[in-house]
Amino acid sequence: MVASEVRALFAVASRPEVVSLAGGMPNVSALPLDRIGEIVQEVVAEQGPTALQYGSAQGDAVLREQICEVMSLEGIEADADDVIVTVGSQQALDLVTRVFVDPGDVVLCEAPTYVTAINTFAAFQADIRHIAIDDDGVIPEALEETLARLTAEGRTVKFFYTIPNFQNPGGVTLSSERRRRVLEICQRYGLLVLEDNPYGLLRYEGDPERPLRADAPDNVIYLGSFSKTLSPGFRIGWALAPSAVRAKLVLAAESAMLSHSTFNQMVVGRYLSTHPWREQIKDFNEMYRERRDAMFGALDALMPAGTTWTRPEGGFFVWVTLPEGLDAKAMLPRAVSERVAYVPGTGFYAGDEGHRHMRLSFCYPTPEQIREGVRRLVGVIKSETSL
Ligand code: PMP
Repeated sequence: MVASEVRALFAVASRPEVVSLAGGMPNVSALPLDRIGEIVQEVVAEQGPTALQYGSAQGDAVLREQICEVMSLEGIEADADDVIVTVGSQQALDLVTRVFVDPGDVVLCEAPTYVTAINTFAAFQADIRHIAIDDDGVIPEALEETLARLTAEGRTVKFFYTIPNFQNPGGVTLSSERRRRVLEICQRYGLLVLEDNPYGLLRYEGDPERPLRADAPDNVIYLGSFSKTLSPGFRIGWALAPSAVRAKLVLAAESAMLSHSTFNQMVVGRYLSTHPWREQIKDFNEMYRERRDAMFGALDALMPAGTTWTRPEGGFFVWVTLPEGLDAKAMLPRAVSERVAYVPGTGFYAGDEGHRHMRLSFCYPTPEQIREGVRRLVGVIKSETSL
């Protein structure tokens, strides 16, 4: 286990003079805080003894029904029995890895991919292999070629971890044509897909894509979360899995934490049943679209030639590729002294890769702060290229 560069950065990036384009924190100040305060009181008044008691490791049955309703917005039909509530989708990543991975087993993931997923797979001593992505998400030929090679070598491949919508950190979305091909390849090799979709409902333009789970219920473990569409403070996410897998995940959850926070689940449940949460997500999407567009505008206007970046249709992140010869990790201390922070690309790979890349997030700073942050960052890049 190694300390994550992203976590280590938080201390520096949270200094008030630094514009942080680093962390992926949702802008929770936009939540209806007064209403959430009332909901907390209503839960205590109406469900006190139950809310303050132990619950099950699978999660509150009412909340699991509501989670099915949330997933149906993206085209997933699910039975609440196949849902397990988790402590954020992070715990689902941990439980799935705990259940499936023995030391040395191969786990496939995108290149780059979500840093804490890498850390979780590594903690269980998985052999992490990256599959290349481009602007349309993971490249099916690369997936197939890797699977063919590993199979010929007699290796055990446990699952393919993918973030198909507005990938973290790449910002790219898997195209519908590729969704079909990825499923076909994984089904042919009998490989489970771990589909991580915390950002799917945060779409600012374009048509939604069908989740992989919607077309292959037996082949996919699907992970969702309220962290981005409501609040990460409640720590409520979920996994939807084929029944046999779900049963093992519940056993693993029992030994990990005995029971969920009954109280938090009831607060989230009551929020979903009494607040117009779909409208709330639309409001979030308007706010985040404005922030994303501020970042696009500043990058388009200011970035020097030779620098490229992705154009996410949703989510929180833009992935930047610097001119040849520049190293985002080496450049970070200078950037911080110029009062701007980002996450160097190296954090998003299991090996020593990603030096020419950085992840910028537009979720937390205001549009003005984003423009100022990009201006400072461009100053640093330009002075590095002229050295
Ligand atoms: N997966 C991805 C791709 C993420 O970006 C995040 C949060 N940054 C998570 C999982 C974990 O989210 P949570 O545990 O808060 O649901």
